[in-house]
Amino acid sequence: MAVSQAIPITRHPYADGSYKKMLIDGQWVDAASGKKFETHNPATGELLATVAEGDAEDINRAVAAARRAFEGPWSKVKPFERQNLLLKLADLVEKNFEELSQLDTLDMGAPISRTRGTRLRVLGMLRYYAGQATALHGETIENSLPGEIFSYTLKEPVGVVGAIIPWNSPLTASVWKIGPAIATGCTVVLKPAEEAPLRLAELCMEAGIPPGVVNVVPGYGETAGAALSSHSGVDKVAFTGSHVTGQAIVRASAGNLKRVSLELGGKSPDIVFADADLDAAVPGAAMAVFANSGQICSAGTRLFVEHKIYDEFVGRVAEFGKKLQVGNGLDPNTQIGPLVSAEQMKRVSGYLSIGQQEGAKALTGGTPLTEGALSKGYFVAPTVFANVQDNMRIAQEEIFGPVISAISFKDTDELIARANATTFGLGSGVWTTNVSKAHQVAKSLRAGSVWVNCYQAMDPAVPFGGYKMSGYGRESGKQHLEEYLNVKAVWIKTG
Ligand code: ADP
Repeated sequence: MAVSQAIPITRHPYADGSYKKMLIDGQWVDAASGKKFETHNPATGELLATVAEGDAEDINRAVAAARRAFEGPWSKVKPFERQNLLLKLADLVEKNFEELSQLDTLDMGAPISRTRGTRLRVLGMLRYYAGQATALHGETIENSLPGEIFSYTLKEPVGVVGAIIPWNSPLTASVWKIGPAIATGCTVVLKPAEEAPLRLAELCMEAGIPPGVVNVVPGYGETAGAALSSHSGVDKVAFTGSHVTGQAIVRASAGNLKRVSLELGGKSPDIVFADADLDAAVPGAAMAVFANSGQICSAGTRLFVEHKIYDEFVGRVAEFGKKLQVGNGLDPNTQIGPLVSAEQMKRVSGYLSIGQQEGAKALTGGTPLTEGALSKGYFVAPTVFANVQDNMRIAQEEIFGPVISAISFKDTDELIARANATTFGLGSGVWTTNVSKAHQVAKSLRAGSVWVNCYQAMDPAVPFGGYKMSGYGRESGKQHLEEYLNVKAVWIKTG
């Protein structure tokens, strides 16, 4: 395993240790309590920023501002103007993309090649939602009532949206919530896990998005997050994060029966048949887990390999993992960055021990990396566990680290039942050159996305979301917009 050594020094306006305020009603303000929290670079431990720490009182102020905006001038803003605002925001994000990529890397550790690589997706999302803003429409529906009575539907914005996002991809996650809200005419209170979305909020102001339409209140889950999800002035919560927090949010939503959409975790099966193009499947299956150090909800962490090729294939994946360059994400050669925090490092290291205690064999990795240039950050070696059985905890529980659990299977029939034997259902992968088999397996898997001979392909026009405990609702695609809209039926007696 190679370790990145040369780390370019970047002075970033959002990572120079300075104090960042929250955005409420178009104003940059301190927390009402005056509290602040610190964010640190997970590769080096250096202080990035001190951030105003929002809690229930700040959420109250932000929800009130979002409500005023929703019921005020924003409700008169035409679809074409909302489209223009999103296009302006997309242009600003494009202009500042290098700075935004560096910020995501500094903030959560992902390699700069990866954060730069989100460019097309982030810009594509903003421009897709811009296009959708002028494509929203109800329907005229013929009814069978006696006499003359005309019926049609109106699509109306659901109202104030509470958006709660995790730390694993701050820019993408923020755009995924703000984009559809602006397209549909909603207003948003965004509760991020750290400070990175505040830079996007600055760009929202610069684009001319009116005060109160986008508010950003950083803070902790149990205070700011809980206040937002239980707030009676919030009409919908759009959440991305763990299933445990998703369950808390559903409970908190019961007070005013607000609408909820949940994009949660997974334990996704990635299935390799003996007839697959193995030269493509080896890096594909490896990076389906190692990308972003495994901190992706749809990572293909249960690697099912047909028994005929199991030893050879898993050995090759381990060799691939061994060669990956681990280090500071700012180094352009880095392929694997740190985990996001000490807490995450402890959690993943715990699973490395559990896997070994359960009898799995680490063909590569299996340990935290604490030497030399990696000593100040939260690094874990890309790990491939062989001899994994379905009932092991490393085959059942979401680890959120660079850990592959490789499992052997005999034939398609037993495979499907085993691949579906998880409480989750987010992503899944199939590697085969047999088209009929690909279709058959794709149809049988209980997951929101099936990637055949690829992994993690995403597009703003194609829906993404979960089955079972991976949540409900979809992001991207037309269905995403529907999550932010109410349907009203209008009846007009004309006879
Ligand atoms: P992760 O493990 O990815 O951090 P979490 O579900 O813990 O997943 O966090 C995702 C987001 O949910 C974060 O913004 C976090 O602050 C927030 N959060 C955590 N607990 C709660 C809660 N009880 N209510 C609302 N939001 C919460």
